[in-house]
Amino acid sequence: MVIDRFYPSSKTCSACGAVKPALGLSERVCVCDRCGHARDRDLNAARNIRAEGLRLISLAMETNRRDTRG
Ligand SMILES: [Zn+2]
Repeated sequence: MVIDRFYPSSKTCSACGAVKPALGLSERVCVCDRCGHARDRDLNAARNIRAEGLRLISLAMETNRRDTRG
């Protein structure tokens, strides 16, 4: 499975999905500009990658179902 490497995982708020345009490398924890949700950068990135992975898996399963139905 390939996760789009341009997917802005570390910049995307896991609460509201807002994408922060710039993220300082020294920023360990970032606070969302839109909803104020504070999150650990790495944890947030991991969550978003997981969510993207699950999305891709469900897409693939959907395609399989269609193909096998005949
Ligand atoms: Zn947010």
